[in-house]
Amino acid sequence: MVKAAGRAYIGGMVTRLYTHPIFLEHITPPGHPERPDRLRAIERVLDDEVFAALDRAEAPEGDEATILYAHPQEFVERVRAMIPDIGIARVDADTTASPKSWQAAVTAIGAANAAVDDVFRGDVANVFVAARPPGHHAEKATSMGFCLFNTAAIAARYAQRQHQAERVAIVDWDVHHGNGTQDIFWDDPSVLYCSTHQMPLYPGTGAVSETGAGNIVNAPLAPQTGSEVFRDAFLSRILPALDNFAPDLIIISAGFDAHHRDPLAEINLTEDDFDWATGQLMQRAGRHSDNRLVSLLEGGYDLQGLAFSVAAHVGRLMKG
Ligand SMILES: [Zn+2]
Repeated sequence: MVKAAGRAYIGGMVTRLYTHPIFLEHITPPGHPERPDRLRAIERVLDDEVFAALDRAEAPEGDEATILYAHPQEFVERVRAMIPDIGIARVDADTTASPKSWQAAVTAIGAANAAVDDVFRGDVANVFVAARPPGHHAEKATSMGFCLFNTAAIAARYAQRQHQAERVAIVDWDVHHGNGTQDIFWDDPSVLYCSTHQMPLYPGTGAVSETGAGNIVNAPLAPQTGSEVFRDAFLSRILPALDNFAPDLIIISAGFDAHHRDPLAEINLTEDDFDWATGQLMQRAGRHSDNRLVSLLEGGYDLQGLAFSVAAHVGRLMKG
């Protein structure tokens, strides 16, 4: 595609934040790690005056038809039928739905697609979407791992269909492998999927040998490793793959459960690592994608680790 040369941001780089009260109404059972308090913790930390320049916007209503960009109709209807009128319905071993879960999931998709619109129009420099439920475990026809639909995959296809993006890269630093995203793009070389994740760990996929159509780059991390191994995976595997692919858009599946405080995994990153990785991806977005960068919240289950990590991530997005 033709890239706009030297787009200037009058008044400097602006970072947009999309969120919506409906994301608090996707209710999970007591004790479930993927809970509304995660977003409250993010909201609180981003209330600080150092984030005063954030362009805060309410997520628009999502277009249900865009779910079909990544999932078959029959599956979409199966998910819709699982949404309960009251209480909490079990979708899989650890995935549940409450009465407002459909609206939350569709609004998360609406926010991600709007973020794609924003960066292609050049309205803002980059966007962080603070939404739930997360998405990267949702396969073509399977909801799992706290995820109903694969928001990042839908947004990537949305960029291709609505903005003529030829190549979209999804970089997933959630501590769990994004089996869903890998499944959806397994034979689609127009989307590069790069992931760092703990292995072994749920969901069990993500070996180096899983390469799809040459468009899948898995960089598994051994338990109890940390900053050095994570940064080396970026420098030796993920960033070279991005340079080789030259994407028109970079989407981050931004999970923060590789933070050392997180209860679901044993990778020992700090918020400084997320700051660093964000900076690296911004550099690549500047080099290849006319700065177009959209970041979507995935996991992160220790409220303090999550809040500090999001603060570092969004702070870096704002600094440029
Ligand atoms: Zn995760």
